[in-house]
Amino acid sequence: MPAMNLSPATGMPARVLSGMRPTGQLHLGNYHGALRNWVALQDRFEGYFFVADWHALTTDYDNTSLLQQHLQQMVIDWLAAGLDPERSTIFLQSQVPAHAELHLLLSMITPLGWLERVPTYKDQQAQLKEKDLATYGFLGYPLLQSADILIYRPAFVPVGEDQVVHVEMTREVARRFNHMYGRDEKFGAKVKAAVGWLEPAARETYRELRRRFQEGGDHAALAEARALVLASSRLTAEQSELLLANLEGEHHRLLPAPEVLLTPTPRVPGLDGRKMSKSYGNTIGLTEEPASIARKIKGMTTDPARARRTDPGTPEKCPVWDLHKLYSSAETCAWVRAGCTTAGIGCLECKQPVIDRIAADATAMRERAQPYIDNPGRVREILAAGAVRANATAAETMQVVRRSMNLVPADGTP
Ligand code: SF4
Repeated sequence: MPAMNLSPATGMPARVLSGMRPTGQLHLGNYHGALRNWVALQDRFEGYFFVADWHALTTDYDNTSLLQQHLQQMVIDWLAAGLDPERSTIFLQSQVPAHAELHLLLSMITPLGWLERVPTYKDQQAQLKEKDLATYGFLGYPLLQSADILIYRPAFVPVGEDQVVHVEMTREVARRFNHMYGRDEKFGAKVKAAVGWLEPAARETYRELRRRFQEGGDHAALAEARALVLASSRLTAEQSELLLANLEGEHHRLLPAPEVLLTPTPRVPGLDGRKMSKSYGNTIGLTEEPASIARKIKGMTTDPARARRTDPGTPEKCPVWDLHKLYSSAETCAWVRAGCTTAGIGCLECKQPVIDRIAADATAMRERAQPYIDNPGRVREILAAGAVRANATAAETMQVVRRSMNLVPADGTP
């Protein structure tokens, strides 16, 4: 098993957090776009994975009839793909009400312009023209995402390129919160003392690297300074946090700003060559029957240049090639390339190894899904156990948040 990534602040395995809207049974695009990576992350991180059921309401608020069915099916697919409730916290967003409280509190300090500028706000309104998305909930959904993230204080948020902007906004919100509520009169003195605890040779280096980042925006210097702090064995977790916060000009990390963990999102073509998506009706299900998989892939679009069996083709112009890149060995890929470009093989022949591989994976996952399909109560138990853990973690953060906003007495009494 790979070594766990440890959090510098706690010395415990670093936490990652990610969520998915409940869309029902998953397809190969969902799997390669996120789920496969979640399963792999469990080996190296403490994983928190949640069903974003409130997020489903931001666009589908007018029809919630399938919500329960969709979330149940999706969690079964997570489990079938290898997400392990013994190692990861798997839960339902709506079973942790603190997400809503933090969302509300963060909404008080978030400038409207930050939300209006999120690219997906206008894009989605344009794409989903048939829906009225001029709602308060839809405008605020990136901030709900920020609350979803910050409440668990994860070190990393695994996202694809298109979601980086949301994590960036989350970082901005955390910084604003920390700046507004984390002022500490003794901060300067505490930083000075903490620097004094660094190894003698590292003290001046820390100051110099911080200056280079603060004055010149030198991100390499910031990374070097962070590494220097994290490598020091003489600092307590609190001192380490303090020096990390000081590097970026923050006073207090009440809400630590998480880092992006960029997830490779390979292109997963749908049956018609466009991106695989439920809305295009071009998907292959993660646990689909082999006969259905074979029928679908046999009918899949290929390079139009291969109108006849004797016409050579170009794999790069064929969506089946994208599937080979995901599923086939180097040897098979070489066989495809040679056969396609010389018309040595036909398209049906070329598709067979992909059909076999996808069908084998789907069969294995279907077998793992079956006990949960037979016993839906088991899924609810897993979500309930996850909610207990998630609520406990969220409660710790909310204590800090409430106290720093003076919503409770400073001594913490209710
Ligand atoms: S031989 Fe394979 S890669 Fe080439 S066009 Fe046909 S299906 Fe696509």
